[in-house]
Amino acid sequence: MKEAFFILLVLLVLAGLTLYRYRRQIKTVLEFWRSIQTIRGQAKASNEQLRDEPVSAGPLVNCPKCGTWVPEEKAIRLGKSAFYCSTKCLEASVKTG
Ligand SMILES: [Zn+2]
Repeated sequence: MKEAFFILLVLLVLAGLTLYRYRRQIKTVLEFWRSIQTIRGQAKASNEQLRDEPVSAGPLVNCPKCGTWVPEEKAIRLGKSAFYCSTKCLEASVKTG
């Protein structure tokens, strides 16, 4: 039992000396690892942004009254293929023909 404790103590001292000897290298490795984690987090965030963009944009339609391109889901539909950017353009188009 005494021998086991002595071996453990020697191992701890050796580990401590090794950590002390390579403290600069360990610090460099830790900083390198941290920077990799930061880059990974940024890459993940940018990937999520790219994934969200096409969903919110959707197909664009051209307003025949003012010529503005608007997302189809936000445009006002008249008939089969006519899309207007706003009720203002729709009313104006109906009035003028
Ligand atoms: Zn319009």
